[in-house]
This record gives sequence, structure tokens and C-alpha cells, in this order.
Amino acid sequence: MAEPTQRLFFALWPSAELRAELLQAVTPMRDAAEGRLIPSENYHLTLAFLDRVPERLISDVVTAAKSVLFQPIDLALDCYGVFEQPQVLWYGSKELPVPLGALVSELREQLAPLVKLRPERIFRPHVSVVRKQSQLPNLEPPAKLFWQASDFVLVHSEYGPGRANYTVMERFSAASV
Ligand code: ATP
Ligand code: MG
Repeated sequence: MAEPTQRLFFALWPSAELRAELLQAVTPMRDAAEGRLIPSENYHLTLAFLDRVPERLISDVVTAAKSVLFQPIDLALDCYGVFEQPQVLWYGSKELPVPLGALVSELREQLAPLVKLRPERIFRPHVSVVRKQSQLPNLEPPAKLFWQASDFVLVHSEYGPGRANYTVMERFSAASV
């Protein structure tokens, strides 16, 4: 029998308040889009996508993430963009803050012995907002939004009818400064 697995990813997870601000900031894009709107309760910023992880490895994955030392992250979301494959419109950041780049690298390094990660591409901080759309609507630049993240999360992703369902499994806090 196939070994049980869970589809997992690490992410920055907005507070309820920030989620509402995000929704407001991306409303022009949502209004102009023709694709499938991602519900705001699913908004997140992916740090590392693990895909299917055998259940027996999950406690080791959590231990590895706990060993990641990182500083709180200040992120300015200030641009819209599109990934033509996999057809996603996003709201993201032109710049990669040093502490965020360091967190992603350190997380990948700690996870490498446990799970197979895709080869590193350029890391683009972004929050996916619309799916099934490969063209950026012609819009004014978005409102700028500041995100202060002092933790990251491990998320379990399941396919629900027409949308992904995410469950936060664990939280990992930044070093206090
Ligand atoms: P759905 O696939 O149902 O449309 P989703 O893409 O949000 O929903 P997942 O496929 O579980 O859900 O992906 C979780 C997160 O990981 C998303 O932010 C997604 O963009 C990202 N992700 C998925 N596949 C990859 C990949 N191959 N490389 C990098 N990030 C990925
Ligand atoms: Mg997906």
C-alpha cells in the first residue's frame, strides 16, 4: 500500500487584520481579472513548497524548521505581477528584504536532508490573488502595504471543491531582538 503523505508548504501567514488590508489593496486587480479569485482567507506568501511528505517524516520537518534562526521581517508589498505558468496573478514586492532571503535560504538548507525541494529559482516574494489568468490587467500601480512578520508557519494543503483548503499545523517564531 502507498505510504500516507501530506501536501505541505512553509509560508508567511497574514493576520486577520492584514488579510483584510490585502483584500482591499488587491481589489482593483480582482475587479479587472477574469480568472478564478483566490479567497482572502487563503492568502499567504510561500517560503518553501514541500509537496507530498511521507507522514513519518513530518515530525523531523517540524524539528528542522524549529532550528531555523531568523530575524523579524519587514516587507513592503508594492507591485502586481503575473506568472504565465502556472497562470497566477499576484501582489508582491519589488525588493527581497535581506532577512526574508536569509530565512528562505536557511529553511531550504535545513530541509534539504529530509525532503526533495525543487532547484532554487529566483525567490519572488508574492501573494497569489487570482488563478487561471496569464495576463496582467492594465492597472495603476497598487497601494503599498507593509507586512511585519515575526513568525512563519507550516501549512497542510488539501484540495477542496474548486479551491485549496489550508490548515496551519505549526508556527515558528523569530529570534527576539
Ligand atoms: P491549487 O493547486 O489547488 O490551485 P494552491 O496552488 O494554492 O492551490 P498548493 O498547490 O498546495 O495550493 O500550493 C501551495 C503553495 O505552494 C502555493 O502558494 C503555491 O503557489 C506554491 N507552490 C505550489 N507548487 C509549487 C512549486 N512547484 N514550486 C513552488 N511553489 C509552489
Ligand atoms: Mg498549486
